[in-house]
Amino acid sequence: KKLRVGVLFGGKSGEHEVSLRSGASILQAMDRNKYDLVPMGIAKTGQWLGHTESTALLGGATPLKLGKAAAKKSVETSLALQATASSTAGLDVVFPVLHGTFGEDGTIQGMLELANVAYVGSGVLGSSVGMDKDAMKKMFAMAGLPIVKHVTFLRSEWKASPKKCTKILEDALKYPVFVKPANLGSSVGISKVRERAELAKAMEEAASFDRKIVIEEGVTGVGKQKGKGKPRELEIAVLGNDNPIASVVGEIVPDREFYDYASKYDSTSTSEPIIPAKVTRAQAKQMQAMAVAAFKSCDCSGLARVDFLMEAVDPGSKKEPKIYLNEINTMPGFTSISMYPKLWEASGIGYSELIDRLITLAVERHDERS
Ligand code: ADP
Ligand code: MG
Ligand code: MG
Repeated sequence: KKLRVGVLFGGKSGEHEVSLRSGASILQAMDRNKYDLVPMGIAKTGQWLGHTESTALLGGATPLKLGKAAAKKSVETSLALQATASSTAGLDVVFPVLHGTFGEDGTIQGMLELANVAYVGSGVLGSSVGMDKDAMKKMFAMAGLPIVKHVTFLRSEWKASPKKCTKILEDALKYPVFVKPANLGSSVGISKVRERAELAKAMEEAASFDRKIVIEEGVTGVGKQKGKGKPRELEIAVLGNDNPIASVVGEIVPDREFYDYASKYDSTSTSEPIIPAKVTRAQAKQMQAMAVAAFKSCDCSGLARVDFLMEAVDPGSKKEPKIYLNEINTMPGFTSISMYPKLWEASGIGYSELIDRLITLAVERHDERS
């Protein structure tokens, strides 16, 4: 019997467009002899779309225009719930290729649990912990994983006393620091702050996206590059449920000051992935073990991309760079040229096979829980 698979894409978050691209790639790659595919689009307003509109959304057509008032009504949630319940009826599995809030953060996962349908990826806990950079770091730290020094403030704490927050921050961290909204992705709202004079603007920016703000000490380099230098950005793909496996290591070389939104998505960006990354065998092994431990520490399932920051070392230097765990992404970019599928391809699992495996893992997880 063919499995009926709903592919959910779009969504309310700032990463709507990225999700459309991932959704289109997945639908294109899935074997029609094995699966009955149901495209399920969510417009930027949060409105769940039917089959025809979903397909149109994928094609880049403008989605249904909803009145603002209609989109904002408090009945929205219950409507969406009804829509999920009815639109997931008859589906065997849902692949929620949604990034960021209202998709990667446990909210959709909660709906799918209520609708009692199997879905690809982490459950409610893994998704929500993985979305929140403050909660995520607590899990990593408890698992003994190396993370950068950081402090966390609520927007209200900053508003009440920027002076007090600045003091706490400067007592704990050295500049440069990175100021981030706790719950976001794609580098949205993140600033690099080199000195105190730049701090307020960065805090206001991050606070405009989230009520919680994480400030981290910047990873730079060792030796001559200490306090300067850009860290190396290394990434590993993890796949599995209770016994996850790690891919080879990949590297991103951002074409700017740091790996910001433009260098991730701008069509003129020259940020190139290098797979496999030039790291020693020992470093690769260490990172693979860290990736699996990070995955488990957040109780993830299905898939996740685990990202690292490695201190920059001068060529020829014998210094061993420190490797920090930066973050976990529970629904990483999933176009056929995205890092996550590319890492598996380089590790021997092609794009279509990867999707098959994820569907199987989703069904296994569902069966185990029910
Ligand atoms: P997102 O979830 O939005 O991708 P990240 O925490 O990965 O957020 O930060 C985005 C980018 O900012 C990183 O890929 C890196 O280029 C830079 N960055 C973040 N934190 C640090 C840090 N502590 N030191 C150096 N660079 C950082
Ligand atoms: Mg992220
Ligand atoms: Mg990142």
